[in-house]
Amino acid sequence: NIRVRFAPSPTGPLHIGGVRTALFNYLFAKKHNGTFILRIEDTDQNRYVPGAEEYIKKTLDWCKIPYDEGPNKDKGFGPYRQSERKHIYKEYADQLIKNGFAYYAFDTTEALDIHRKEHEAEGKTFIYNWHNREKLTNSLSLTPEEVDHKINSGEPYVIRFKSPKDETLYLQDEIRGDIKIDTNILDDKILFKSDGMPTYHLANIVDDHLMKITHVIRGEEWLPSLPLHYLLYKSLGWDTPKFAHLPLILKPVGKGKLSKRDGDKMGFPVFPLEWKDPKTNDISSGYKQDGYLPEAVINMLAFLGWNPGTEQELFSIEELIKAFDLKRVNKAGAKFDPEKTKWFQQQHLQRKDSDTLSNEFAELLSQKNIETKLDLTTIINTVKERATFTKDLWDLSSFYFLSPSEYDQKAIKKAWKEDTPHLMHELTRILNDITDFSEDNVTTTVKAWITGKEIGFGKIMMPLRIALVGSLQGPDLFQIAAMIGKEETIQRIENAIE
Ligand code: GLU
Repeated sequence: NIRVRFAPSPTGPLHIGGVRTALFNYLFAKKHNGTFILRIEDTDQNRYVPGAEEYIKKTLDWCKIPYDEGPNKDKGFGPYRQSERKHIYKEYADQLIKNGFAYYAFDTTEALDIHRKEHEAEGKTFIYNWHNREKLTNSLSLTPEEVDHKINSGEPYVIRFKSPKDETLYLQDEIRGDIKIDTNILDDKILFKSDGMPTYHLANIVDDHLMKITHVIRGEEWLPSLPLHYLLYKSLGWDTPKFAHLPLILKPVGKGKLSKRDGDKMGFPVFPLEWKDPKTNDISSGYKQDGYLPEAVINMLAFLGWNPGTEQELFSIEELIKAFDLKRVNKAGAKFDPEKTKWFQQQHLQRKDSDTLSNEFAELLSQKNIETKLDLTTIINTVKERATFTKDLWDLSSFYFLSPSEYDQKAIKKAWKEDTPHLMHELTRILNDITDFSEDNVTTTVKAWITGKEIGFGKIMMPLRIALVGSLQGPDLFQIAAMIGKEETIQRIENAIE
């Protein structure tokens, strides 16, 4: 039974990279009829940001990536918030010490700084491992009595992992393949802190083990932690889960990881939802608030590092679940492309069922205080093709609801001639005589009239368009006329003549 988890730390809003990690975990779980778990990794209390957990849940909700287990959804593996699991971790830190895989360290920040500086002065980097362990203040360099004394007198300590000397680790990653690591480059990471809290490393592997996680799918920034995690599993006598590290998400232009600042600079959101920083009150925009459909965002994220191996680009979530395969996730970083994101949005808007779309559009109209009896589905179907966002539907169709408040001056210059008022006046009489004001009838009658007058179509059609729409743009004129009706059509022509 496949069990995967998304394990964010509530240190701020999730950015789209985090959402992609959640998505890939979800797709993998659903593909294999497995379980997708949300675990909140909040052991680092200094970095805790209020509202962040709520934001994570709201994001998963909006994206329609539901979790099977998580906070308030306990299926026997909870609690799913690490701060509520505090009592669990110490035992494992103690077990590691007892078996010689970890040790107490009493070094103060200042003492470590001095060592660091001394090394720097000699052009070396300081690492806390077998290179320096003996010179530092810890249970490997002190006598057992000294250690007991320090602990009993309440001196702050941490528990560090004792990374092995002169070993080679052979690790496997589902995406990156075989990885070879020389343990001499590993430092003795802190597993447990004096505040009684485990660090990310210990809590993470203990929980993955206790929650029976089968696959750890996470961002590439965690790859450097893999050797330590692997060693921790081994030292605790546990089987390791399988690991898959997802490629970085890169800036649209230039080199390096996508950052929040790239979004501000280039005008696209890097957050799924709007976020108000609780400290600064700064507001960052989100895909939702910018009018994106969750389907589009999901589809775009799926292609950041994965592809189906076919030409197909548009996927619903169900199609993604079917097509998803970890083997088709790339090693190389994936460039984020704001234009392509818009394209996905445009495409998903076209695919959206017309009932939902007309409901959304109706809401938008009521916000604008527009009451209408017009058939919104017809209007939407007429203009949708050119819309990227729901709000574009309004810009493309406002003339159905409102008569033009101004006229495009360029259009007037081009199409409004001396005899136009006279012709338009005659046209109102022709229109007035049509009893059944259907699109077909209006088309045939007006066309016959123009042909009879032996004048160019443009002489009538262009000014008529200006009168009805305000510019030379828009869908078929006779369709517009039939939609808004005889009275309104004639009224608009008369307004234009004045
Ligand atoms: N808490 C870590 C994070 O914020 C989890 C990393 C992992 O999945 O192991 O991304």
